[in-house]
This record gives sequence, C-alpha cells and structure tokens, in this order.
Amino acid sequence: MSDTPADTPPAAPAAPEESQELPIEEVPETDILFECPHCGKSLSIDPRGAGLVIRCTQCHEPVTVPIPDGMELDDFDATPEELSLQLLHARQTVSRLQEKVRALEDEAAQLRAFRDDTMRRASDREDAMASFRKAVRRALEAQADASRNLQEVAAAMDVALGIPPS
Ligand SMILES: [Zn+2]
Repeated sequence: MSDTPADTPPAAPAAPEESQELPIEEVPETDILFECPHCGKSLSIDPRGAGLVIRCTQCHEPVTVPIPDGMELDDFDATPEELSLQLLHARQTVSRLQEKVRALEDEAAQLRAFRDDTMRRASDREDAMASFRKAVRRALEAQADASRNLQEVAAAMDVALGIPPS
C-alpha cells in the first residue's frame, strides 16, 4: 500500500522528532500506514501519531491519523521517559514565562517607585515652599508687631517727656 515509505508526514507535536527523520530502510513495521482521504497519497507515521491530526505531505490538508484496530491508545502512548521529557520542557517553558513576568513586574515596580519618588519630591518641594511662605508671613507679622510696639513705646516716651504729639 505504501510504495513511498519515505514520505512520512510531519509528526504532530506530541510525537518524537525521530519519527519523521528515519531513513527509508529504518521505517519500522509498526508504523501506521494509511492513505490521505483528500488526495489518496500513501502516508506512514510512528504509532504514537495515532489519533493526531497531521498535514498531508502532498496536499497539505489536515488528516487524522487512524488508530489501528485492536489497539488501545495506551499501547502507543508516550513512554514514561518521554512524558518526563515533555513535562520537563513544559516546566522550562513555564519557568521562562515566569522569569519574563518577574522581569516585567520588576520594571513596573521600578516605574512605580520612580513615580512615587518624583511625586514625593514634588510634594516635599511644595511642603518646603509652604513652610517658607508661612515663615515669611510670621516674620512680617512679628515685624509689624515690633514696629507697633516701637511706636507705642515712642508715644509713651513722648508723653513721659512732655513732647506734644506731632
Ligand atoms: Zn493529501
């Protein structure tokens, strides 16, 4: 049925890479052989591709790899080692994404800190200006009081010395 066993269709992501790189003479007899329902092209794939949707090497239509009769999915499921490897890759991906998220969070935290610092410094400046204005106002009031007091003292002295008010 498969006169060109070299035309192994691209394996689905779950299938190991070597299933599509085997030389002709090494295509195992356990491979699933089937025909593309769209163009009739003979296709072969590693048993672990059973049930997966692949693209036909000839017409590039999506094709569901048939599950051979009398076999359970577990029979050609990934080995524990392969599952561990897939899990490891998944964890590495998650770890990379978490690192990226952490970097973004750091950046956001730095921006927030910069914003807060800028706002704090602006508000510190405003506070300083406000207390400076208050101090100036108090000094002017004290000066006014002092000059009022001086005028009162001068007037009292005039009275005491018998000088008529000018
Ligand atoms: Zn096809």
